[in-house]
Amino acid sequence: MPSLSVLPDQVDLVVAGAGTAGAATAAHAAERGLSVLCIERARLDRAGARWVNGVARDAFVDAGIALPEGDELRGLDTRFHLFAGRGPQRIVMENHGVLDVDMRHLVRRLHTRCLEAGVTLIGDVSVHDMQGHVVTTSRGSVRADFIVDASGLAGLNLLGIPKPPKSDLCAAAQAVHRVTNTGAARDFLDAHDADEGETICFTGIAGGYSILNVSVHADEVSILTGSIPADGHPPGTRILDDFVADTSWIGERCFGGSRAIPLGGLPRALTHDHVAAVGDAARQVFSAHGSGIGPGMTAGRMLAECLAETGHVEDYGVRWMRRFGGLFAGYDILRRVSQTLTKEQIATLIDAGVLDSASVAAGLGQRLPDASASRAVKLPKQLARSGSVGARMAAAGARVGAVATLYAGYPKRGSRRGWAALVRAAMRS
Ligand SMILES: Cc1cc2nc3c(=O)[nH]c(=O)nc-3n(C[C@H](O)[C@H](O)[C@H](O)COP(=O)(O)OP(=O)(O)OC[C@H]3O[C@@H](n4cnc5c(N)ncnc54)[C@H](O)[C@@H]3O)c2cc1C
Repeated sequence: MPSLSVLPDQVDLVVAGAGTAGAATAAHAAERGLSVLCIERARLDRAGARWVNGVARDAFVDAGIALPEGDELRGLDTRFHLFAGRGPQRIVMENHGVLDVDMRHLVRRLHTRCLEAGVTLIGDVSVHDMQGHVVTTSRGSVRADFIVDASGLAGLNLLGIPKPPKSDLCAAAQAVHRVTNTGAARDFLDAHDADEGETICFTGIAGGYSILNVSVHADEVSILTGSIPADGHPPGTRILDDFVADTSWIGERCFGGSRAIPLGGLPRALTHDHVAAVGDAARQVFSAHGSGIGPGMTAGRMLAECLAETGHVEDYGVRWMRRFGGLFAGYDILRRVSQTLTKEQIATLIDAGVLDSASVAAGLGQRLPDASASRAVKLPKQLARSGSVGARMAAAGARVGAVATLYAGYPKRGSRRGWAALVRAAMRS
């Protein structure tokens, strides 16, 4: 990678942050003819997510990024076993469309694509501030027509988006460890009726919004955990460490990471004047399972297209909100209910058929469940069979439709205060 001692004086676009969202934005913009400077605070080989993430196949297509292969692709649409607590209730899903991706490779691939497109990509430089069109960094200043904040949840916050409440923060951790005893690992898989490469997901183990996912690949095991500590639960790091300590066949850690994921709380606007935000910086996280990779990369492509087509960052904000806002806010309503559930209530929803392989696979794939006629007939009965938890889910479901309608009509211009008040009311009522 080139090492610049002096920044260019002027570019079309400065992108702050070279994680997945920032690198995708920079590459797409440069491919459409803009001069782009992408600035990363960390070393480039430490940028963005450094663990294994599940990313919907459709998200790569939407984002205009080739599907992962080789070492980057650790799992392809493998069977997913979702247990209520440690079971016995479970749902088994196939063809959910989620790929297990080694993010270290994906970030490197996006950086390579940036360089091939002519992006000036620099690491070890921090963006400090922005005054109008001038961006100040630890290596001097640069003037830009457009500025993108892709610096993540703990980054610059150039749009001044309110901090999420702690109850909207998932403390997640992911790690890949060596398997020290393949026979014992096999016994674990057999006990859960699963195979190598498949995901065993224990949900509701530390509050309704918590998971412990385990998948064994030959001599490695991949572990993903997450929970909401503000609700009084141990964070993902503790759940992961405890599982490793309690499991005799798991050995040394190979790689991984942990941090907070913002759930829900889409801002009123994704842009202001010549400034836009993408990725976690814009709270573009699919909150049902805390997934931000696909949404951030897709936002990057949309933003680059708008800059190239119309030259207005605001068009990106409108396009993204109208296409994804309703889906994301709708699932966030359900996430808020699921956060309050016990594992017994999750089991009730599975027993009643409210949660089934089709509905959970739709959530994993970040799309609405199919609205088939037979499901429309069955669902009210299934909710009724689930007692009070079913009634809460039904009430939440009714609000999903209202929120979807509001986002479909996301206002093109103006302060959007009245619109935002309606969204808040629909989310809470
Ligand atoms: C353990 C864990 C598991 C997860 N699992 C999944 C999953 O399965 N699927 C999924 O889709 N998502 C998952 N996520 C969420 C996903 O990792 C994030 O949503 C995603 O990484 C956000 O990408 P981003 O590019 O917006 O931000 P980041 O990845 O946070 O990148 C921001 C970059 O900006 C840089 N930066 C910050 N400040 C500055 C500055 N001042 N100047 C310059 N650069 C700066 C940072 O160094 C960083 O490299 C998981 C998260 C965690 C923690």
